[in-house]
Parts: sequence; C-alpha cells; structure tokens
Amino acid sequence: MAVVGARSNRHNIIAFPGMSAATSQQAILAATQTFYHPPITTQEIQPDRPIGYGAFGVVWSVTDPRDGRRVALKKMPNVFQNLVSSKRVYREIKMLCFFKHENVLSALDILQPHSIDFFQEIYVITELMQTDLHKIIVSPQPLTADHVKVFLYQILRGLKYLHSANILHRDIKPGNLLVNSNCVLKICDFGLARVVEPDEGAFMTQEVVTQYYRAPELLMGAAHYSAAVDIWSVGCIFAELLGRRILFQAQTPIQQLELITDLLGTPKEEDIRTACVGARTHMLRQRPKGNSMVALYSLSSQATHEAVHLLHRMLVFNPEKRISCADALTHPYMDEGRLRYHSCMCRCCPNTANGRQYVSDFEPSSPRPFDDCFERDLTSVHQVKDRLFQFIYDRYKGLYRMPLCINPHSAAFKSFTREFPQNSHIISLYK
Ligand SMILES: [Zn+2]
Repeated sequence: MAVVGARSNRHNIIAFPGMSAATSQQAILAATQTFYHPPITTQEIQPDRPIGYGAFGVVWSVTDPRDGRRVALKKMPNVFQNLVSSKRVYREIKMLCFFKHENVLSALDILQPHSIDFFQEIYVITELMQTDLHKIIVSPQPLTADHVKVFLYQILRGLKYLHSANILHRDIKPGNLLVNSNCVLKICDFGLARVVEPDEGAFMTQEVVTQYYRAPELLMGAAHYSAAVDIWSVGCIFAELLGRRILFQAQTPIQQLELITDLLGTPKEEDIRTACVGARTHMLRQRPKGNSMVALYSLSSQATHEAVHLLHRMLVFNPEKRISCADALTHPYMDEGRLRYHSCMCRCCPNTANGRQYVSDFEPSSPRPFDDCFERDLTSVHQVKDRLFQFIYDRYKGLYRMPLCINPHSAAFKSFTREFPQNSHIISLYK
C-alpha cells in the first residue's frame, strides 16, 4: 500500500496499482493529492536509497510518483539557524530555479513544506546523476582523449552560461561536476555562488574555493576578484583529467602558492596588483623561480600541443590576462568535444528525418542576468523564512503539475530519520 498524503487529508491510504506493499512503502515522495494513480509499473520501481552525503545534507535517489521518473532528492537541513546561512540557502534555491541549461544542475521541483511553523529544512528535486568527475578520475576506468575533450567542453559550456548570468560559482572542483551514464556533465552545488561584484572597492570573502583549485589571487588575499577564479579551477581540473592526479596538492595555502610558482614561475609585480600588501611583499622577496610549464607535456600522452596551449591560457597568474570561458570555447582544442557533444549527447539538436538538426548557437548565454536584489532588504531569519515559504508556494501558481511533499509513512523515510536522529522531528510533524 502506498501512502499518498494530501495536505487536506494526509492519512488517506491508497494502493498504487500493481505495487506490493513493501515496494510502495519505499516511496519517500508523495503527490499532494488524495487519489492519484501514477503511470508506473512494478518493474520500474526501485527502492529509495541515499546516494550522497556532505556538509550540505544528504541526497537520495527516489521515484517521482507523478511520472515514475527516477530523480535526486536533496535535503537541506537546519536552514534557518542564522541570517547568513538562511540567506545563502535562499540564494541557492533562487539560482536552482533560475537555471535552464543542460550543463548546469537545476531544480525540477521544491517539495512543499507542511506549514511555516514546522519549516526547518528544504527538499529539492533535481535530475539524477550517477557519478561525479572526482569519482571518475580516481577510478580505474580508462579516460580517453575523447572523454577529456567532451568533459572539458561541457564544463566550459555550463560555466559560460553561469558567467553570462553574472554568477561566480566559486567552488568549481571535480566533486561538483556531476556525470551521468551517457557522460553528460552538470555543474552543481551553488552554496558558495554569488553575483559578480561590480564595485572594485567592495570587499569579497576569500573563504571560497576548495584549496587545490583556488586561484592565486585568492591565495594572495585579493579583496576583489572576478569570474577568472572559476577558470583557474577549470585549468586545474583539465590538468587533473589529463594526468589523473591533482595538479597542485598542497597541505596549506602558502604551500599551495609555492606549488603554483614552481610551475608558473615567480609572477611579475604587475601581475599581483590585486594581492594584499603582505602577500605581495612576501612573493617579491622570494628567490625568483623560472617558468616550467613545459612539464605539462608530461602529464600524459594526451597532453598534445593544443591541450597544453589551452592549459597555458587558463593557468595564468594575472586574472586579467587569464582566458575567459567564452574565449576558451573558441580554442581549437574544443572542436572535437563540441562535435561529439552535439552529434550524439545534447538535447538541443534534435534528430529529424533529414538527420541531426544543429542549433545555431552551440554555447548559449543566459538570456538575462541573475538578479539578486531580493537579498538586499533581508534583515532577519524570520523574514527569509517567510519569503522562502512564499516562493515555494508561488512556484505552483499557473502550473498544472501536482505539488509534491514528503511521505513520512514510507519505510525508507523512517529508516532515514532513524539513521539521522537529529531529524526525527520531521516525522513527528505528521503524527
Ligand atoms: Zn546540441
């Protein structure tokens, strides 16, 4: 028997046709309508299970009861603990709902909270992706030159879209690049993302980007930085794809900078203009090091002249001289990745009776910038909670889709709350 909880009549129990009690009890998601028979068969039912854990919470692989599609359910716990974290989650939710691009993860749905009084966590549904680039790189499976090209193409394609929407990701790393079984890649985790700061005098936090992928200007304490920090991370990942090991793997930020200068050489004074005074003085006092970028050829046999040339343009000390995402996509190294992606992987170029119909713009920009003005007048956690609650409800206005909610009676959900006792209050909501 499946439990389909309607907000007006949550305790009604009906059976999904053709489903055994044990199987349907696994369904964590429930459509908020009392009598609903989803178009799914027993063979398609797979148990709900956790697929990822992290500081952000937990991700489950679940079945959408409206169409039987397997999706990822991400729980964002303890959202309203303080103003900074609640504003960050609000921004992330707004971004996930804004994105419309094949290589950027977006929200397919946000689950409806029962009531604002018990609104503590947020559940977001996204497309289900099987793995990520970190797991692929450390796995024994071979990575051909074609793999590297098509992955890099998709990273840059997604990032071009984000940058054109005026968004800095600020945590590009292999673990945040999800990959499905067809090698389609999506950039995820927008917990640190923000809109470009136009005022060069405004201070921006330096507590961004996982250290191995952190750009030199961040390591040197620049108070203001740009989308170039993301390109540096992509350069590190490109080298990691080629060499199957982390390019700059240091224990501390100082060592990180040393590994970078070992490869790039000591920067000129003009190239560290944005660094804080202490870091600049330290750097210029060091014994000068020469450039040893030629070592990039030894990353692997796939490190061709074109590959190394593009790496040279990404791993540049001065962020103003570093290649942009849009320009990197025009590099000859990207041609084969583009061809492969659009000839058999993308959703933008349909197959017709006359063959593949290619789109006119292979790497579309965002039609408009992401507007973060909603954040400006938020001064209390209570205010953020109200706005976020309203935002989730308003998303369904004018839509014919049924809203979804958590099914607290499902066996899988109960085991989940047992596993995470701090979340046990969720279940008591519905008792
Ligand atoms: Zn296409």
